Amino acid sequence: MVVEIVCVGTELLLGNIVNTNAAFLAEQCAALGLSCYYQSVVGDNEERLSKTLNYALERSDVVILCGGLGPTPDDLTKETAAKVCGLALVEDAHTRAMIEAYFEKSQWKVIPDNNWKQAMVPEGAIVIENHNGTAPGIIIEKNGKSVILLPGPPNELIPMFKKDIAGYLNRLQPEIICSKMVKLAGIGESQVADEIDDLIQKQTNPTIATYAKTGEVHLRVTAKVKNEEEAKKLIKPVVKELRERFGNYIYSVKEEETLEEAVVKLLGKYDLSLTTAESCTGGMLAGRLVNVPGVSEVFKQGFITYSDKAKRKLLDVNKATLKKYGAVSEETVKEMAKGGVFATDSDVCVAITGIAGPDGGSEEKPVGTVYIGCYIKDRIMVEKYLFKGNRAKIREYSVVRALDLLRRSILEHYEDNK
Ligand code: ATP
Ligand code: MG
Repeated sequence: MVVEIVCVGTELLLGNIVNTNAAFLAEQCAALGLSCYYQSVVGDNEERLSKTLNYALERSDVVILCGGLGPTPDDLTKETAAKVCGLALVEDAHTRAMIEAYFEKSQWKVIPDNNWKQAMVPEGAIVIENHNGTAPGIIIEKNGKSVILLPGPPNELIPMFKKDIAGYLNRLQPEIICSKMVKLAGIGESQVADEIDDLIQKQTNPTIATYAKTGEVHLRVTAKVKNEEEAKKLIKPVVKELRERFGNYIYSVKEEETLEEAVVKLLGKYDLSLTTAESCTGGMLAGRLVNVPGVSEVFKQGFITYSDKAKRKLLDVNKATLKKYGAVSEETVKEMAKGGVFATDSDVCVAITGIAGPDGGSEEKPVGTVYIGCYIKDRIMVEKYLFKGNRAKIREYSVVRALDLLRRSILEHYEDNK
């Protein structure tokens, strides 16, 4: 089945906003096994939008339109789609009630007249509830084709797609697509590809696809099946095989779970309190950890010790160590990690010190040299990296590696010794 994505908005054409919805929708459609041959962006203009939609309907089975469902007059996606499909707009009582309830809960007690426009839907369309805004999603089915209208704001579009649209698209296909994500950290993409080359060579159903993310590799195992039970039967042995091959490199087999969530879960499992001590990442590691709701159970304190003086004062790093080995060294990162534990009386401390550039590198310690240390229960693990890329990339890699070193340190201490 062929799906086409059309994003509507003059702001997109002008480059004022980045088209992240297109990337999200394309990735989701690919994961559902749908072919997407065309994507377009069109401004808030009725004539050009009609033309684009007509083209799309000629060459694709499903057209997903996003944006322009808002209450203002320049939001004309729904009106245009209804016209192209030859349908009148009628009021949907349920949506009207939802809009009333939405405003009742919000700080705006008076409902602007404009908003009632959002309760109008093309006659006979399927209305999809919006739990994060007032514009409902709409599915028009006409002559064996579907036109799907989604709100522009990603915080409305993404949950709506996951909750209702993915299932709808799956049901349109004779076979459904089910997949499972296996997420790895601490191993490079080419090594992963080498290790599963034989599996990839002989794969038919399910298939394995690799995706490289910053410092991580994700493997998606996808099966084409009649029902979910069959999917489980096909996918389970492949995931088992991947677990055997990659062991502790796998940090999660949950689609939504991030590396920081997996780490926080592990800390919680062993009732460990954590401190961070950062130099070149300037708090980014603490920021990633604080992404996780409930992190307060384990996260005690984050130090940003950028200067030598701060390292000495807050983390008790020796003046002599700094002088002899420098701030970016194995010895310093060890003392930072140890100092973090003692300063806060926590169980674990992860420390990062490095040269993010573009200046400050030397022959011995070029830009990208980063030391990461993890102190856990009187033991310390240190790793040295030489990251490539610009300042932002080096700092981002450092954070991912630090999260992963923390994860592996805990596993080594508590699980490998069992
Ligand atoms: P609203 O009710 O907010 O007007 P809408 O469905 O009419 O929603 P738009 O007006 O097109 O959507 O866009 C609203 C906001 O949603 C934009 O300002 C932008 O922040 C975001 N947005 C819209 N389209 C995209 C897109 N393709 N990718 C990422 N963000 C988008
Ligand atoms: Mg709008």
